[in-house]
Amino acid sequence: MIRDWLARNYYKVIFKVSAREEYKGFVLYSLKNDELFFSHTKKSLDLIERYDSRRFSETRLHLPVIAHVEEGFNYFNRNANAFYVENYFPQDIGFYASAIVHEATHAYLFHKGLDYDSDRERHEIICTNEQNRFLRNLIKANAELSADQKREWIAKNDAMFKGKIKSRWWERDRKKIRISKLKAIFKLSPSK
Ligand SMILES: [Zn+2]
Repeated sequence: MIRDWLARNYYKVIFKVSAREEYKGFVLYSLKNDELFFSHTKKSLDLIERYDSRRFSETRLHLPVIAHVEEGFNYFNRNANAFYVENYFPQDIGFYASAIVHEATHAYLFHKGLDYDSDRERHEIICTNEQNRFLRNLIKANAELSADQKREWIAKNDAMFKGKIKSRWWERDRKKIRISKLKAIFKLSPSK
């Protein structure tokens, strides 16, 4: 079916019209050529490399493309084998790095042949746990924090991720979110 083919290959069109940069074996795209996205992503990748080099190699292997396409939410795009970024958390390089870890875990599970749609809850719990584990190691490695501050911060993250899982965001209608976002982009487009 042509429709399916288009759906599978649409990312090629998106990447073609996006600004492109390479960094440490990753390919980065930004549809709006957002400089901050590029610099921020590089810093976050540096952070992963510095504090968890094994994870950095795994991330590069399974999630070699990070694309700032703003489709309404952050997710792993299987066709493009890419992290599709909506929000790169401009105020927080550490949290963005943890989001990259989260999506890289989705990519890893996908490459292992584990189907996301057969058990979304399980996939999201695994990925969220990996994300939190990465953040916990970052906090532990931070020499500027006292032992009490570290404990406090770790407990805060645990509670935050627990709340997120409880919200069951994976049950939301992603197609609807994407379409409304695309509509907004085209409405805002100055060429129209
Ligand atoms: Zn996820």
